[in-house]
Amino acid sequence: ILEVKHLVKYFGEREILKDIDFTVEQGNVISVIGASGSGKSTMLRCINLLEMPTSGEIVFEGKNILDLSNNIALYRTKVGMVFQSFNLFSNMTVLQNCMASPVTVLKRKKEEARQIAMKYLEKVGMEQYINARPDQLSGGQKQRVAIARALAIKPQILLFDEPTSALDPQMVGEVLGVMRELAEEGLTMIIVTHEMAFARDVSTRVIYMADGVIVEDGTPQEVFGNPKNEKTKDFLARFT
Ligand code: ATP
Ligand code: MG
Repeated sequence: ILEVKHLVKYFGEREILKDIDFTVEQGNVISVIGASGSGKSTMLRCINLLEMPTSGEIVFEGKNILDLSNNIALYRTKVGMVFQSFNLFSNMTVLQNCMASPVTVLKRKKEEARQIAMKYLEKVGMEQYINARPDQLSGGQKQRVAIARALAIKPQILLFDEPTSALDPQMVGEVLGVMRELAEEGLTMIIVTHEMAFARDVSTRVIYMADGVIVEDGTPQEVFGNPKNEKTKDFLARFT
């Protein structure tokens, strides 16, 4: 459903993404791993058009979304994103956070948006906190609300940029548990993560990036069990 072709991104003179190519099929759960600075976040941000690629194509539903004739707001309702730092609206309650996009972007009626929001807040186990403000929640709770908010626009693909990196260790499990459930339900996801056990157990595919290049793209068994590239072996050795 998504095809990234010859994606190149420069920041100033520096080439951060160098000819990135990969395809996402319906139901794929793709973990993206790699050292700090290898370009993982930049790649996700390009896919969500938070950054404009310098060149290349991103084909979604048969159309290159970089063509200016395409509707970016509509595209963003189909490809959602969850951030390391949650990015909740701090002046809104949990419920209001999850209702905002269904009302403003999808033009749902308030009551319908509330039902959609409640459905996903229940899914992530946050229905008791609907009237809380984000600053009253733990990191793990905030991230579960952020996931519910992203699900409320019913994206076809959900992108995660290190969703557990800002969490205390005891809260990582609750967020990974929700993501594991979404994977089992067949949601298409691209997940940048340093959680190697999660990547190995939950992904249908693992991509290893180094210096703006996809070095490895295969099943978890292939990438973790039998990496082709020396760089991948060195990287993975740090986690054992
Ligand atoms: P991490 O694991 O630390 O999150 P990453 O793989 O996500 O790393 P990116 O954040 O994509 O890496 O950054 C890749 C490179 O691009 C880095 O060298 C970074 O300094 C540079 N970079 C990222 N964003 C910008 C920006 N807005 N302007 C200039 N350079 C940037
Ligand atoms: Mg990053």
